[in-house]
Amino acid sequence: MAKTYSDCFYCGGFVEQRLPPRELRWQGKLFAIEDVPMGVCSQCGEKFLKPEVAKGIDRIFEEKKQPAKTIQVPLYQYGPVS
Ligand SMILES: [Zn+2]
Repeated sequence: MAKTYSDCFYCGGFVEQRLPPRELRWQGKLFAIEDVPMGVCSQCGEKFLKPEVAKGIDRIFEEKKQPAKTIQVPLYQYGPVS
């Protein structure tokens, strides 16, 4: 595979492209986007998003696209460990 990302900014490790789902909040609501091309450092796990990919994500919201599906997200209330 062609090298599309520079080495990790933080640790110098190799950054490989992956397609993890990405969660983000938009106007107070939680959304998830699947198959987002993202660079992930193989050493420290830092994620790198290309500017054009970030722009593509913005466009999804700006165009108010219909989601492919709606998922339910379990929400936990944090409680102190006894
Ligand atoms: Zn790294």
